[in-house]
Amino acid sequence: MYGEHPTKTGEVVAVYQPSHEREQQTWENSHNVQAWAEIYLLSLSDELLTSAWSTFGYVAQGLRGMRPLILYKIDRTIPDPPCGRGVSMEPCYHAPPIFDCKAQSTTVDIGGLVPHVRHCEDISWGIKLEVFRFAEEENGFGMKTYFKVGACLIVFSVVLIFIFQDTALDSITRFATTSFFATGSEHSCLSRNQSVLYRKSSPHKPSSYLVSKLRSYEELHKRCGPYTISYKRSIKQLQSGQIDHNSSDCKYVVWVADCGLGNRILSITSAFLYALLTDRVLLINQEQEMVDLFCEPFSNTSWILPEDFPFKNKVSGFNQKYGHTYGNMLKNNTINYSTQLLPSYLYLYLSHDCGHEDQLFFCDQDQALLSKVPWLIMRSNVYFLPSMFLMSSFDQELDKLFPDKETVFHHLGRYLFHPSDRVWRLITKYYQEYLAKAEKRIGIQIRIFHPKTSPFEYVMDQILACIQKEKLLPEVGTGKSIASPSKNQTSKVVLVTSLFRGYFEKLKKMYGEHPTKTGEVVSVYQPSHEGRQQTWQNSHNVQAWVEIYLLSLSDELVTSAWSTFGYVAQGLRGIRPLILYNRTISDPPCGRGVSMEPCYHTPPIFDCKAQTTTVDTGALVRHVRHCEDLSWGLKLFNSS
Ligand code: GDP
Repeated sequence: MYGEHPTKTGEVVAVYQPSHEREQQTWENSHNVQAWAEIYLLSLSDELLTSAWSTFGYVAQGLRGMRPLILYKIDRTIPDPPCGRGVSMEPCYHAPPIFDCKAQSTTVDIGGLVPHVRHCEDISWGIKLEVFRFAEEENGFGMKTYFKVGACLIVFSVVLIFIFQDTALDSITRFATTSFFATGSEHSCLSRNQSVLYRKSSPHKPSSYLVSKLRSYEELHKRCGPYTISYKRSIKQLQSGQIDHNSSDCKYVVWVADCGLGNRILSITSAFLYALLTDRVLLINQEQEMVDLFCEPFSNTSWILPEDFPFKNKVSGFNQKYGHTYGNMLKNNTINYSTQLLPSYLYLYLSHDCGHEDQLFFCDQDQALLSKVPWLIMRSNVYFLPSMFLMSSFDQELDKLFPDKETVFHHLGRYLFHPSDRVWRLITKYYQEYLAKAEKRIGIQIRIFHPKTSPFEYVMDQILACIQKEKLLPEVGTGKSIASPSKNQTSKVVLVTSLFRGYFEKLKKMYGEHPTKTGEVVSVYQPSHEGRQQTWQNSHNVQAWVEIYLLSLSDELVTSAWSTFGYVAQGLRGIRPLILYNRTISDPPCGRGVSMEPCYHTPPIFDCKAQTTTVDTGALVRHVRHCEDLSWGLKLFNSS
């Protein structure tokens, strides 16, 4: 019930049962151990609902020290109400004597002999000790109530201050939020408003130029988006295959999916920045595996490529061999820089395995040609964005948009990717159940690309060495003493994400079975262990998105080298992670990233001006350098 449906108040309700032994086996020691554990656990509750007549419940309520809500016996004697508050927290004596000792043969009502012994609420012939009532409860509004109201007001004010400060900082999102809802879009997006309650406010402010550019983009998208007059005209032009300069002033870039969710998020972001720089509208060819992962990012319009888009199947299936890709057309000489009659659409193949001609996309001369083609259909699975920082046509604009080079994905990612309501419910439920209470949250993302070359023991040792070297978690002692939980003890929670369960199990066992040397309490959780990547499954991507987002709520992040899953988490979080280096670098086990930007794994390595020459593209400009985790990759850094 609570797992499948949201609550009306928005509260998250989790339900657990430690055992279901079926039969009472009182002669079994282990059975009694379990019973005692559960009585004790019940006695740690804030509220108790017990079954009438049960001594199991009596012990729990007594140890807890509260009057429980008693589920009345269904013997039709008390059909309504279904339960009632006990008038005493004392257990009931089920079979008391019913005679008067002085006149032994006479039956008396022993529930009426003294004021503090009365009949039980759940058994009319039983007796129990009467409860002492607090005066304040009788007049209904005692001192305790005043204190509670006062405390609530203080907490409420602090939460308000927190929300307003945070929202003010996150001005890109705030803009999206206000415009989105003020205009009355029919799409709900809880995460857009509620994320400030969960994630750390960003210390990185977007430039005012970026904010105003995004506003203009939103206007453009509204004017040219699906089913607008301009869109319909552009579609006609697309179908004709010819550019018609009077047809529409709208130009598009259609993004086509490839690979896992991390790769997709990063390549969409790259395509979006390209759209911003070239005044195009970005449309997403959303396959079923991506349905309902994200909210619509732009107000009163959609970024989803409509189902009735012409040759939609062709678009989904487009690959490097298509004759109509820009790279192949250059290769076959069907297009060149002086071609006058350009087609109304071109395919751009920009995935990890694209060839030299495909990569000419990153040359200024080619951009001049591409800028005239209204429809660009792009397949990409990489964060190709850093290469745009090497092009002189975009140079100045990028400088104004991103004075802080390390925050490109951080800002654009937070702006574009808001979890849909169904994903958001899963995120907040998990967060509140397992992560919220800890003082420090540590996310550890373990991505194993090749199990054969990354043996379990090796990776586990690397993780432990990293944790120890960076003092992320306390060491465990070998002694038997168990540190008692006290109020000033700090608590840390470790969120492990991985396709496999072994790393989590080892960490959990380590901190579950041994006290820490510092007395800190460390809990370890892993939301799923899917076993293998199943990107074509919608529910699998939902889980991946939940975990990327949960990682991004961590105070500290440990990520796996080369993984775009980790890049997205670090970028959304806005921190430089500790990177677990690939096996080729055994010492140190991990190191702090020098930029929080994702890495472009397969950048071009040629100089556009002298096309045949190979150059070190990591040395051309100060803020584009090679990645810490991949020597041939490129990423953005702050040059200072
Ligand atoms: P990358 O391959 O590490 O760069 O990241 P991608 O996100 O592009 O692709 C990996 C895919 O495998 C993810 O999108 C998930 O589908 C799956 N996957 C990998 N690691 C995890 C994990 O820790 N949790 C979950 N739920 N899925 C994962």
